[in-house]
Amino acid sequence: MDTQSPESNLSIPLEPGLYIVATPIGNLGDITLRAVDILRRCDRVACEDTRVTGKLLKHLGISRPLHRYDDHAPPRAREQLVGAMRSEAVALVSDAGTPLVSDPGYRLARDAREAGIAVTTLPGPCAAIAGLTLSGLPNDRFLFAGFLPAKEKARADVLVELGSIDATLVFYETGPRLLKSLWAIGELPGDREVAVARELTKLHEECRTGSAAELAEYYEAHPPKGEIVLLVGPPGEAAPTGDPDQLLREALETLKPSQAAAQVAKATGLDRKALYARAMELKAG
Ligand code: SAM
Repeated sequence: MDTQSPESNLSIPLEPGLYIVATPIGNLGDITLRAVDILRRCDRVACEDTRVTGKLLKHLGISRPLHRYDDHAPPRAREQLVGAMRSEAVALVSDAGTPLVSDPGYRLARDAREAGIAVTTLPGPCAAIAGLTLSGLPNDRFLFAGFLPAKEKARADVLVELGSIDATLVFYETGPRLLKSLWAIGELPGDREVAVARELTKLHEECRTGSAAELAEYYEAHPPKGEIVLLVGPPGEAAPTGDPDQLLREALETLKPSQAAAQVAKATGLDRKALYARAMELKAG
């Protein structure tokens, strides 16, 4: 392990290049020694919002030129920044957490690598990983999928696409959209354990687990504030499978075609409309 303290490096200039620096997601004590060292010694800091990063640097007692950057910047602006990395150490930070994880930086890192610039990463806080560790959900296989789409159909399509994967799914979420996402997750086949990890590393950190329906009921009564990671456990052992026709026939013994289609869609993950059409055929004989 390299145990050099940040102070011991202060007089040594940094090698030119791009330094990808993770910063706290709430608790400022989570900044790493190495992040402080690089932020102190870099020539400039590229950041999403100069006010947010300015506050962090002020808290750390650091003053460096700040340069606003996001991946939507015109290619010319990125070229200039990559050009500067030939002679300068440029630190890239996002508003919080690990740059590039649902945050700007991918294009910059890609272009820097293509230009033969040295790229160094300084790992640190990341809400997805913090949520995963807190949730108690299986983490031997997990899939980070960023934010779910806001539109109902697109959200349902993504969930159908990911729903059969044998891994814990990790999403970033916002308070106003949480209930809709939980309802949509409740439609996935199999018994899923779900976790809502909120305000991680902050004063009101909480992590609630349960079924999607239980969590939806709770958050309907207690509208969630702050930042959220939503985690969905892998499909349970009890995920029902079987011949859809057989399942529909059984369901039609007690349910209307629309209800039978909904039940079998939930159990199998198959398309509800197609199942409804088939249920009508079976009922007609
Ligand atoms: N790059 C960041 C990272 O490494 O975590 C994520 C940036 S993304 C634009 C912001 C989202 O991350 C928030 O909407 C929320 O879903 C999640 N997030 C960030 N900080 C969080 C926190 N303290 N607690 C829970 N979720 C958080």
